[in-house]
Amino acid sequence: MTTETSTGLIGLGTMGAALALNIAEKGFPIAVWNRTPAVTRRFHEDAGGLTDRVIPTESLESLVAALAPPRTIILMVPAGQAVDDQIAALAPLLGPDDLVIDAGNANFHDTNRRAAAGLPMRFLGMGVSGGEEGARHGPAIMGGGDRADWDRVAPIMEAIAARAEDGTPCATWMGEAGAGHFVKTVHNGIEYADMQMIAEIYGLMRDGLAMHATRIGDVFAGWNEGALKSYLVEISAAVAHARDPLTGDGMLDVILDAAGQKGTGRWTAIEAQHLASPIPVIEAAVMARNVSARLDERRAGQARFGAAPQEVTLEPAELEAALIAGKILCYAQGFAMIDAAGRAFGWRLDLPGIARVWRAGCIIRSAMLNDMAAALADDPSRNLVLASFFADRLEATVPALRRVVSQGVLHGHGLPALASGLAWFDMMRTGRGTANMIQAQRDFFGAHGFDRMDGRDSHHGPWGKAG
Ligand code: NDP
Repeated sequence: MTTETSTGLIGLGTMGAALALNIAEKGFPIAVWNRTPAVTRRFHEDAGGLTDRVIPTESLESLVAALAPPRTIILMVPAGQAVDDQIAALAPLLGPDDLVIDAGNANFHDTNRRAAAGLPMRFLGMGVSGGEEGARHGPAIMGGGDRADWDRVAPIMEAIAARAEDGTPCATWMGEAGAGHFVKTVHNGIEYADMQMIAEIYGLMRDGLAMHATRIGDVFAGWNEGALKSYLVEISAAVAHARDPLTGDGMLDVILDAAGQKGTGRWTAIEAQHLASPIPVIEAAVMARNVSARLDERRAGQARFGAAPQEVTLEPAELEAALIAGKILCYAQGFAMIDAAGRAFGWRLDLPGIARVWRAGCIIRSAMLNDMAAALADDPSRNLVLASFFADRLEATVPALRRVVSQGVLHGHGLPALASGLAWFDMMRTGRGTANMIQAQRDFFGAHGFDRMDGRDSHHGPWGKAG
């Protein structure tokens, strides 16, 4: 093999194989190694016209030997221990200028830990979104670590990344240490929420309006021509239209209603709690996946309490407007959380830049992200619901969200994500809320004190000794 390269990749699974081919296709030869050698051989054989740009290796030593220093080695293995093991195995083989990039879905705390660990090589944590198709033909890439290390690999990352309509590559350095993996985690949390809200609207059409899957697919396809234009609405139309080759039934009608998850939604929710940054739509989506997995309990619940009455009176246009409102509320929460994290962790997170990176390549790509990028560029620290473009949109769509949620509540359709978005919105638009009662209770039983509305400095109530 005469091909010379400095770029290697470890882990030829779904994402690694696709990413390696993408890198090779963009003109960067790549050396690869996989734990199971047969996978490496098969990958090389199947690389088609890219075979000459792929250097298969059968040990970590030969992978490192195949690379000209300074080397860049991308890890695409499961998050957690496998990443630590690979870093430990590479440590004695690499020099201080060689760079290891963890491109899996790491918990950003792990990336922070690795960045601070004084590794004997350079290290970047990089979120990659877009699934297999994105990795192969153009993902969204969220880099984190030292800026100089990112700049070194930026030409490759920008070449393989998706491009927004204006031609900008969707590959950006987010900040130091775990910033890239943090932004990828919140991306995934928003992905959970987007998917859950679509599923809730699907449920209303299926159970509340007795619509056939094909008709539901038509409705989603129609929405994908308007404000909801997005990858997730597009694939929702496709899956609703698909038929099961075994039975001829609609695919959705044969798929078990128990959702899987790998943890990034949960990490988003946990981190939001630590940051005291409300993301109820994402939290509801994580909760809904957990409830969905409790199939036996749900069936026992239906046997005990009976199925709820199902009919609703709603127009598809109301469902569309409710989904638009829910989406704005969810993203407003997600961006506010990113803003809070930037301040808490000392990252200069560029919110409009993050919206721009998400415009193409990633699972949550959507037309609306263009408007979000513009609104955030206008004022990054203002909540999106207060940006005039989105405030106007919410005024136009929240009444439909309110009707959809109330119909769900009245007729027994669980709509946790949409309902929690609405509850948050109603709190956000209430200048005098009810936490005065909470403060009085806290002072009553715990002498925690409170602030007065009139500014006087009596900090305790007249309730005598706290119990
Ligand atoms: P796969 O299960 O398809 O592939 C995993 C790869 O890692 C295989 O090559 C496997 O090798 C290797 N591997 C597993 N365990 C170890 C280990 N202990 N040491 C060394 N190598 C190991 O996973 P994906 O490609 O789907 O995911 C890879 C990463 O990318 C994960 O962090 C995932 O969360 C993330 N990701 C996945 C996305 C997706 O849509 N699938 C999207 C975005 C990110 P072997 O052949 O020997 O088993």
